[in-house]
Amino acid sequence: MSADPIDGRTRVAGIIGNPVAHSLSPAMHNAAFSALGLNWRYLAFPVESERVGEALRGLAAAGLAGINVTIPHKRAVLEHCSALSAAARAIGAANTLVPDGAGGFRADNTDAEGFVRALDEQAPMELGGREVVILGAGGAARALTFALRGRGARVVIANRTPGRAEQVGADDEVPFAGPARDRALDRAALVVNATSLGLHESGVPVELPLEQLRRDQVVADIVYRPGGTPWLGAVAGRGIRTVDGLGMLLHQGAAAFAQWTGIEPPVEVMRRALAGS
Ligand code: NAP
Repeated sequence: MSADPIDGRTRVAGIIGNPVAHSLSPAMHNAAFSALGLNWRYLAFPVESERVGEALRGLAAAGLAGINVTIPHKRAVLEHCSALSAAARAIGAANTLVPDGAGGFRADNTDAEGFVRALDEQAPMELGGREVVILGAGGAARALTFALRGRGARVVIANRTPGRAEQVGADDEVPFAGPARDRALDRAALVVNATSLGLHESGVPVELPLEQLRRDQVVADIVYRPGGTPWLGAVAGRGIRTVDGLGMLLHQGAAAFAQWTGIEPPVEVMRRALAGS
Protein backbone atom coordinates (compact mmCIF):
# COMPACT_ATOMS: atom_id res chain seq x y z
CA MET A 1 0.00 0.00 0.00
CA SER A 2 1.36 3.50 -0.74
CA ALA A 3 1.20 6.39 1.71
CA ASP A 4 -1.36 9.20 1.45
CA PRO A 5 -0.14 12.41 -0.17
CA ILE A 6 1.02 15.05 2.29
CA ASP A 7 -1.99 17.11 3.39
CA GLY A 8 -3.40 18.90 6.41
CA ARG A 9 -3.68 15.66 8.37
CA THR A 10 -0.09 14.44 7.83
CA ARG A 11 1.62 13.61 11.12
CA VAL A 12 5.33 14.35 11.46
CA ALA A 13 8.03 12.50 13.37
CA GLY A 14 11.77 13.04 13.06
CA ILE A 15 15.27 12.93 14.43
CA ILE A 16 17.42 15.67 15.95
CA GLY A 17 21.23 15.48 15.96
CA ASN A 18 24.30 17.24 14.66
CA PRO A 19 25.25 16.13 12.09
CA VAL A 20 22.13 14.23 11.08
CA ALA A 21 22.22 14.14 7.27
CA HIS A 22 23.86 10.68 7.33
CA SER A 23 21.03 9.16 9.42
CA LEU A 24 19.38 6.00 8.08
CA SER A 25 16.30 6.55 10.28
CA PRO A 26 14.30 8.63 7.74
CA ALA A 27 14.55 5.85 5.12
CA MET A 28 13.61 3.20 7.71
CA HIS A 29 10.61 5.00 9.22
CA ASN A 30 9.24 6.43 5.98
CA ALA A 31 9.31 2.92 4.46
CA ALA A 32 7.35 1.67 7.47
CA PHE A 33 4.73 4.48 7.27
CA SER A 34 4.36 3.90 3.54
CA ALA A 35 3.98 0.13 3.88
CA LEU A 36 1.19 0.55 6.44
CA GLY A 37 -0.51 3.37 4.49
CA LEU A 38 -0.04 5.76 7.41
CA ASN A 39 -0.24 9.46 6.61
CA TRP A 40 2.98 10.13 8.51
CA ARG A 41 6.40 11.46 7.45
CA TYR A 42 9.78 11.32 9.20
CA LEU A 43 12.32 14.14 8.75
CA ALA A 44 15.88 14.88 9.92
CA PHE A 45 16.39 18.13 11.85
CA PRO A 46 19.97 19.37 12.32
CA VAL A 47 20.04 21.11 15.72
CA GLU A 48 22.99 23.00 17.27
CA SER A 49 23.82 21.98 20.84
CA GLU A 50 22.99 25.38 22.32
CA ARG A 51 19.50 25.26 20.76
CA VAL A 52 18.30 21.82 21.93
CA GLY A 53 15.79 23.20 24.46
CA GLU A 54 14.47 25.77 22.01
CA ALA A 55 14.15 23.11 19.29
CA LEU A 56 12.23 20.71 21.53
CA ARG A 57 9.83 23.41 22.68
CA GLY A 58 9.21 24.35 19.04
CA LEU A 59 8.75 20.77 17.89
CA ALA A 60 6.34 20.11 20.77
CA ALA A 61 4.40 23.29 20.00
CA ALA A 62 4.15 22.26 16.34
CA GLY A 63 2.66 18.93 17.40
CA LEU A 64 5.41 16.51 16.38
CA ALA A 65 4.23 12.96 16.93
CA GLY A 66 7.60 11.48 17.90
CA ILE A 67 11.30 12.32 18.00
CA ASN A 68 14.50 10.33 17.86
CA VAL A 69 17.66 11.82 19.30
CA THR A 70 21.17 11.11 18.11
CA ILE A 71 24.72 12.33 18.81
CA PRO A 72 25.45 14.73 20.48
CA HIS A 73 22.07 15.46 22.13
CA LYS A 74 21.12 12.17 23.84
CA ARG A 75 21.97 13.47 27.33
CA ALA A 76 21.05 17.11 26.79
CA VAL A 77 17.40 16.36 25.92
CA LEU A 78 16.66 14.86 29.34
CA GLU A 79 16.35 18.17 31.18
CA HIS A 80 13.79 19.34 28.61
CA CYS A 81 11.46 16.33 29.05
CA SER A 82 8.53 16.07 31.45
CA ALA A 83 9.26 12.47 32.47
CA LEU A 84 11.96 9.83 32.05
CA SER A 85 11.43 6.09 31.56
CA ALA A 86 13.36 3.73 33.84
CA ALA A 87 15.78 2.99 30.98
CA ALA A 88 16.41 6.66 30.15
CA ARG A 89 16.97 7.43 33.83
CA ALA A 90 19.36 4.52 34.40
CA ILE A 91 21.29 5.09 31.16
CA GLY A 92 21.31 8.88 31.56
CA ALA A 93 20.41 9.40 27.92
CA ALA A 94 17.39 9.25 25.60
CA ASN A 95 17.07 8.30 21.94
CA THR A 96 13.26 8.37 21.76
CA LEU A 97 10.85 11.13 22.80
CA VAL A 98 7.11 10.55 22.94
CA PRO A 99 4.41 13.26 23.28
CA ASP A 100 3.29 13.41 26.92
CA GLY A 101 -0.24 14.63 26.18
CA ALA A 102 0.43 17.89 28.01
CA GLY A 103 2.39 19.78 25.37
CA GLY A 104 5.81 18.26 26.03
CA PHE A 105 7.73 15.01 25.60
CA ARG A 106 8.62 12.10 27.84
CA ALA A 107 12.03 10.50 27.31
CA ASP A 108 12.82 6.86 26.69
CA ASN A 109 15.88 4.90 25.58
CA THR A 110 15.23 2.08 23.12
CA ASP A 111 18.95 1.51 22.29
CA ALA A 112 19.21 -1.04 25.11
CA GLU A 113 16.13 -2.97 23.96
CA GLY A 114 17.36 -2.66 20.35
CA PHE A 115 20.66 -4.31 21.17
CA VAL A 116 19.23 -7.30 23.04
CA ARG A 117 16.59 -7.88 20.36
CA ALA A 118 19.35 -7.90 17.70
CA LEU A 119 21.37 -10.30 19.86
CA ASP A 120 18.36 -12.59 20.38
CA GLU A 121 17.73 -12.59 16.65
CA GLN A 122 21.26 -13.01 15.29
CA ALA A 123 23.05 -15.02 17.99
CA PRO A 124 20.73 -16.10 20.84
CA MET A 125 22.65 -16.94 24.00
CA GLU A 126 22.21 -17.33 27.76
CA LEU A 127 23.69 -14.31 29.54
CA GLY A 128 22.79 -15.05 33.18
CA GLY A 129 25.96 -15.28 35.29
CA ARG A 130 28.20 -14.90 32.26
CA GLU A 131 30.80 -12.24 31.56
CA VAL A 132 30.59 -9.62 28.82
CA VAL A 133 33.41 -7.30 27.70
CA ILE A 134 32.34 -3.96 26.22
CA LEU A 135 35.03 -2.05 24.34
CA GLY A 136 34.26 1.65 24.86
CA ALA A 137 32.55 3.66 27.58
CA GLY A 138 30.41 6.28 25.82
CA GLY A 139 26.65 6.68 25.72
CA ALA A 140 26.14 3.49 23.73
CA ALA A 141 28.20 1.48 26.24
CA ARG A 142 25.95 2.79 29.02
CA ALA A 143 22.87 1.55 27.16
CA LEU A 144 24.49 -1.85 26.54
CA THR A 145 25.55 -2.17 30.18
CA PHE A 146 21.98 -1.46 31.32
CA ALA A 147 20.61 -4.04 28.87
CA LEU A 148 23.14 -6.77 29.57
CA ARG A 149 23.07 -6.41 33.36
CA GLY A 150 19.30 -6.64 33.01
CA ARG A 151 19.87 -10.08 31.49
CA GLY A 152 22.04 -11.08 34.44
CA ALA A 153 25.47 -10.66 32.81
CA ARG A 154 28.57 -9.32 34.58
CA VAL A 155 29.85 -6.38 32.50
CA VAL A 156 33.53 -5.47 32.17
CA ILE A 157 34.48 -2.23 30.39
CA ALA A 158 37.69 -1.82 28.38
CA ASN A 159 38.11 1.83 27.46
CA ARG A 160 40.87 4.05 26.08
CA THR A 161 40.27 6.64 28.81
CA PRO A 162 40.47 4.79 32.15
CA GLY A 163 38.18 5.24 35.18
CA ARG A 164 34.81 5.14 33.41
CA ALA A 165 33.33 1.86 34.78
CA GLU A 166 31.28 3.52 37.53
CA GLN A 167 29.94 6.17 35.18
CA VAL A 168 28.90 3.46 32.72
CA GLY A 169 27.35 1.31 35.45
CA ALA A 170 29.67 -1.63 34.73
CA ASP A 171 30.89 -4.17 37.28
CA ASP A 172 34.59 -3.87 36.45
CA GLU A 173 37.09 -2.20 34.16
CA VAL A 174 40.30 -3.25 32.44
CA PRO A 175 42.68 -1.22 30.25
CA PHE A 176 41.73 -0.89 26.58
CA ALA A 177 44.68 -3.05 25.48
CA GLY A 178 47.14 -5.37 27.20
CA PRO A 179 47.22 -8.57 29.27
CA ALA A 180 44.38 -7.70 31.69
CA ARG A 181 42.07 -7.00 28.78
CA ASP A 182 43.11 -10.21 27.08
CA ARG A 183 42.36 -12.22 30.27
CA ALA A 184 38.91 -10.59 30.44
CA LEU A 185 38.33 -11.44 26.77
CA ASP A 186 39.31 -15.01 27.49
CA ARG A 187 36.57 -15.28 30.16
CA ALA A 188 33.91 -13.45 28.10
CA ALA A 189 30.90 -15.14 26.49
CA LEU A 190 30.12 -11.94 24.56
CA VAL A 191 32.44 -9.18 23.29
CA VAL A 192 30.92 -5.91 22.01
CA ASN A 193 32.66 -3.08 20.18
CA ALA A 194 30.93 0.11 21.37
CA THR A 195 33.74 2.46 20.35
CA SER A 196 33.54 4.35 17.08
CA LEU A 197 36.59 2.39 15.82
CA GLY A 198 34.61 0.09 13.53
CA LEU A 199 33.98 3.10 11.33
CA HIS A 200 37.48 2.68 9.84
CA GLU A 201 37.32 2.12 6.12
CA SER A 202 39.91 -0.57 5.68
CA GLY A 203 41.59 -3.27 7.68
CA VAL A 204 41.15 -4.14 11.34
CA PRO A 205 42.24 -1.40 13.74
CA VAL A 206 45.07 -2.85 15.84
CA GLU A 207 43.34 -1.68 19.03
CA LEU A 208 40.46 -4.10 18.48
CA PRO A 209 41.33 -7.69 19.36
CA LEU A 210 41.01 -10.38 16.76
CA GLU A 211 43.54 -13.08 17.62
CA GLN A 212 42.04 -13.48 21.13
CA LEU A 213 38.49 -14.17 19.97
CA ARG A 214 37.18 -17.74 19.82
CA ARG A 215 34.43 -19.70 18.11
CA ASP A 216 32.56 -20.38 21.36
CA GLN A 217 32.08 -16.63 21.85
CA VAL A 218 29.63 -14.14 20.31
CA VAL A 219 31.02 -10.86 18.98
CA ALA A 220 28.99 -7.72 18.26
CA ASP A 221 29.88 -4.41 16.63
CA ILE A 222 27.23 -1.75 17.17
CA VAL A 223 28.76 0.60 14.60
CA TYR A 224 26.34 0.33 11.70
CA ARG A 225 26.97 0.22 8.03
CA PRO A 226 25.32 -1.90 5.35
CA GLY A 227 27.26 -5.14 5.00
CA GLY A 228 28.79 -4.73 8.48
CA THR A 229 32.08 -3.14 9.52
CA PRO A 230 35.42 -4.50 8.20
CA TRP A 231 36.27 -5.57 11.77
CA LEU A 232 33.08 -7.60 12.19
CA GLY A 233 33.65 -9.13 8.76
CA ALA A 234 37.12 -10.24 9.85
CA VAL A 235 35.65 -11.72 13.06
CA ALA A 236 32.97 -13.61 11.09
CA GLY A 237 35.71 -14.85 8.76
CA ARG A 238 37.19 -16.70 11.73
CA GLY A 239 33.96 -18.70 12.11
CA ILE A 240 32.71 -16.70 15.11
CA ARG A 241 28.99 -15.85 15.53
CA THR A 242 28.49 -12.10 15.03
CA VAL A 243 25.83 -9.43 15.64
CA ASP A 244 25.90 -6.27 13.53
CA GLY A 245 24.95 -2.68 14.35
CA LEU A 246 22.17 -2.54 11.78
CA GLY A 247 20.19 -5.02 13.88
CA MET A 248 20.39 -2.69 16.89
CA LEU A 249 19.46 0.31 14.74
CA LEU A 250 16.49 -1.60 13.31
CA HIS A 251 15.12 -2.73 16.65
CA GLN A 252 15.61 0.59 18.49
CA GLY A 253 13.68 2.16 15.60
CA ALA A 254 10.95 -0.47 15.68
CA ALA A 255 10.49 0.08 19.44
CA ALA A 256 10.22 3.86 18.89
CA PHE A 257 7.74 3.38 16.02
CA ALA A 258 5.50 1.24 18.23
CA GLN A 259 5.43 3.90 20.94
CA TRP A 260 4.61 6.76 18.56
CA THR A 261 1.95 5.04 16.46
CA GLY A 262 0.60 2.38 18.82
CA ILE A 263 0.88 0.01 15.85
CA GLU A 264 2.99 -3.12 15.46
CA PRO A 265 6.03 -2.04 13.39
CA PRO A 266 6.60 -3.71 9.99
CA VAL A 267 10.06 -4.94 10.99
CA GLU A 268 10.88 -6.70 7.72
CA VAL A 269 10.00 -3.58 5.68
CA MET A 270 12.25 -1.52 7.98
CA ARG A 271 15.06 -4.09 7.66
CA ARG A 272 14.87 -3.98 3.86
CA ALA A 273 14.91 -0.16 3.90
CA LEU A 274 18.10 -0.21 5.99
CA ALA A 275 19.73 -2.80 3.76
CA GLY A 276 18.97 -0.66 0.70
CA SER A 277 20.25 2.59 2.23
P1 NAP B 1 30.63 8.29 22.36
O1 NAP B 1 29.81 8.59 23.57
O2 NAP B 1 31.30 9.42 21.63
O3 NAP B 1 31.77 7.23 22.79
C1 NAP B 1 32.76 6.81 21.88
C2 NAP B 1 33.62 5.73 22.53
O4 NAP B 1 34.58 5.31 21.54
C3 NAP B 1 34.39 6.19 23.76
O5 NAP B 1 34.46 5.13 24.67
C4 NAP B 1 35.77 6.49 23.18
O6 NAP B 1 36.82 6.33 24.11
C5 NAP B 1 35.88 5.41 22.12
N1 NAP B 1 36.84 5.76 21.07
C6 NAP B 1 36.69 6.69 20.09
N2 NAP B 1 37.77 6.72 19.31
C7 NAP B 1 38.65 5.81 19.81
C8 NAP B 1 39.96 5.39 19.45
N3 NAP B 1 40.60 5.94 18.40
N4 NAP B 1 40.54 4.42 20.19
C9 NAP B 1 39.89 3.88 21.23
N5 NAP B 1 38.65 4.23 21.64
C10 NAP B 1 38.04 5.19 20.93
O7 NAP B 1 29.79 7.53 21.25
P2 NAP B 1 28.55 6.53 21.52
O8 NAP B 1 27.29 7.31 21.50
O9 NAP B 1 28.85 5.67 22.69
O10 NAP B 1 28.60 5.66 20.15
C11 NAP B 1 29.67 4.76 19.88
C12 NAP B 1 29.44 4.11 18.52
O11 NAP B 1 28.25 3.30 18.57
C13 NAP B 1 29.23 5.13 17.39
O12 NAP B 1 29.95 4.69 16.25
C14 NAP B 1 27.74 5.06 17.12
O13 NAP B 1 27.42 5.34 15.77
C15 NAP B 1 27.42 3.60 17.48
N6 NAP B 1 26.00 3.43 17.88
C16 NAP B 1 25.24 2.54 17.21
C17 NAP B 1 23.91 2.36 17.56
C18 NAP B 1 23.05 1.40 16.79
O14 NAP B 1 21.82 1.51 16.83
N7 NAP B 1 23.63 0.42 16.10
C19 NAP B 1 23.34 3.08 18.63
C20 NAP B 1 24.16 3.97 19.32
C21 NAP B 1 25.50 4.15 18.94
P3 NAP B 1 37.25 7.54 25.14
O15 NAP B 1 36.29 7.45 26.30
O16 NAP B 1 38.62 7.20 25.50
O17 NAP B 1 37.12 8.82 24.35
